[in-house]
Amino acid sequence: MMQQKSQQSPNAIVIGAGPAGSYTALRLATLGIETNVYEEHAKIGLPSHCAGHLSIRSLKKIGYYPLPKGIIENTFDAANFYSPLGTQFSIHLKKPVTCALNRAKFDQYIANQAQQAGAVFHLGHTVQSLQIEHDYVKGVNLKDGTQVSSKITLDAEGISSRLLRQTRLRGITEKSLVYAVEAEIDKVHDVELHSVEVYMGSSAPGFYGWLIPRPDGTAKLGLAVSHGNPQTYLRYLMTKHPVAKRQVKGAKIVQANYHAIPLTGPIDRTYDNGFLAVGDVASQVKPTTGGGVIFSLTCGEIAANVVKSTIELGDVSAKTLSVYQKRCNKTLSFDISFMLRLRQFLNSLSDKRLDSVLRFCNRFGVAEALADVEEIDYQGQMLLHVATKPAVISALGYFGLLYLFANP
Ligand SMILES: Cc1cc2nc3c(=O)[nH]c(=O)nc-3n(C[C@H](O)[C@H](O)[C@H](O)COP(=O)(O)OP(=O)(O)OC[C@H]3O[C@@H](n4cnc5c(N)ncnc54)[C@H](O)[C@@H]3O)c2cc1C
Repeated sequence: MMQQKSQQSPNAIVIGAGPAGSYTALRLATLGIETNVYEEHAKIGLPSHCAGHLSIRSLKKIGYYPLPKGIIENTFDAANFYSPLGTQFSIHLKKPVTCALNRAKFDQYIANQAQQAGAVFHLGHTVQSLQIEHDYVKGVNLKDGTQVSSKITLDAEGISSRLLRQTRLRGITEKSLVYAVEAEIDKVHDVELHSVEVYMGSSAPGFYGWLIPRPDGTAKLGLAVSHGNPQTYLRYLMTKHPVAKRQVKGAKIVQANYHAIPLTGPIDRTYDNGFLAVGDVASQVKPTTGGGVIFSLTCGEIAANVVKSTIELGDVSAKTLSVYQKRCNKTLSFDISFMLRLRQFLNSLSDKRLDSVLRFCNRFGVAEALADVEEIDYQGQMLLHVATKPAVISALGYFGLLYLFANP
C-alpha cells in the first residue's frame, strides 16, 4: 500500500501549470493568497501543442506586450484565406495586430512571475484525484501518495477534464472537440513573412489549417478536424492543396504534436463547493479560431479575485463561488455566442459556397473595410465596430442568406 504523506495546507491549490494555471496562481499570489501549483510535467510548457498566435491588443491589456526577448517570434499585419479550390482572400491591416509566441517560453515566463509573487510550484507532480467530503472539494491527492488540503482548488488541467469529472460538473464532451496537429517545418516558399496563411473548407473539415511563418523562414504548420485523422489531412495539405503544397514544397516536418481543441463554448457550470475550473478544462476557448490563451488568462484573473473575496468571507460554497461564472459570462458570452454562430456558418458551407464567399469578399471590398481592425479576440465587438461600413453590411446580408439556406 502506498504510504500517505501530507504537505502543509495552502489556501489555494492550482492543478496544471499551463497559461490558465500559472496565470491564476500569479494573480492569487499577488493578492496574498498562499498558493501551491501541481504540474505533472517536469518542465513547464513542454511538450508544446499550441501555435501561440495571439492578439497584440489583448496581450497589451493584460500587460504582456512587449515581452522579454525570445518569446515573441513574429508579428503579423496580414492574413490570406484560401478555399480548397484555390481562391484567395487577403486582408492587409494598417499595423501588426497579432503575434506568434514561443508557447513554452511564454508559459515559463508566466510561471516565473507567479513564483516570484510567492506561488509554490511542484513540477513532476501529478494530481491523482480530488479529496471530496460531503460534496466539498477539500484538496488533492498526488500520485506519489501525498495528500494536500486547501480551502479552494482551481482546476486548470486542460482538456482532459479527468479531475473535473469527480465533482458534480460536466466536462467537455467528445462532440465538442476538434483534433489538431501542430507541426514545425524547416522552410516555406512564396509567403509574406508577416502574413498568416489560412486554409479553409474540406482541407480541414470542421476547422481550418494554418501556416505561421517565422522571419528565419521556418514555420508552424497545423490544422484541426472534426472527424478523420489530422495526420492524413496534414499530408494532403502538404502534397495536394493547390496553394499550401507550393508554399511548403520540399519542407520537412521537424516535430509534430497532437492535441484536441474544445469549440462549443464554455461548459454549463464552472464552479462547485471549494472548486473552480479555469481555461481549456472549462472550454474557455474561441469557437472560431480555437484560441484559448487570452480567455484563460482573463478568466484566471476573475477566478483569483473571486477566491480572494470568498476566502475572506470564509464561505467557499458553490453558491458564493457562482459569481465567478457570472463575471466570466459577462466578459465573454456576447462574443462567444457570435463566434458559435460564425463557426456554425463556416461549417455549413460546401467548398463551392466557401469559394463564392471568398470571391464575394474580394469583389465587395470587405478587406478594405476591415483594414483598421485591431480586435480579434472579442469578435462580436469587432463586428459591431465595422458593421456600419457598406462592404460589411453587404457581406453580412449575403452571409445571412447563405446561413438561412444552410440552416433552414
Ligand atoms: C494545435 C493547437 C494550436 C493552438 N493554437 C492556439 C493559438 O494560436 N492561440 C491560442 O490562443 N490558443 C491556441 N490553442 C489553444 C491553447 O493551446 C489552449 O487554449 C491553452 O493551452 C489552454 O491553457 P490551459 O492552461 O487551460 O491548458 P494547457 O495548456 O493544456 O495546460 C494544462 C496543464 O495541466 C497539466 N495537467 C493536466 N492534468 C494534470 C494533473 N492531473 N496533475 C498535474 N498537472 C496536470 C498539463 O500537463 C498541462 O501542463 C491551440 C491549441 C492546439 C491544440
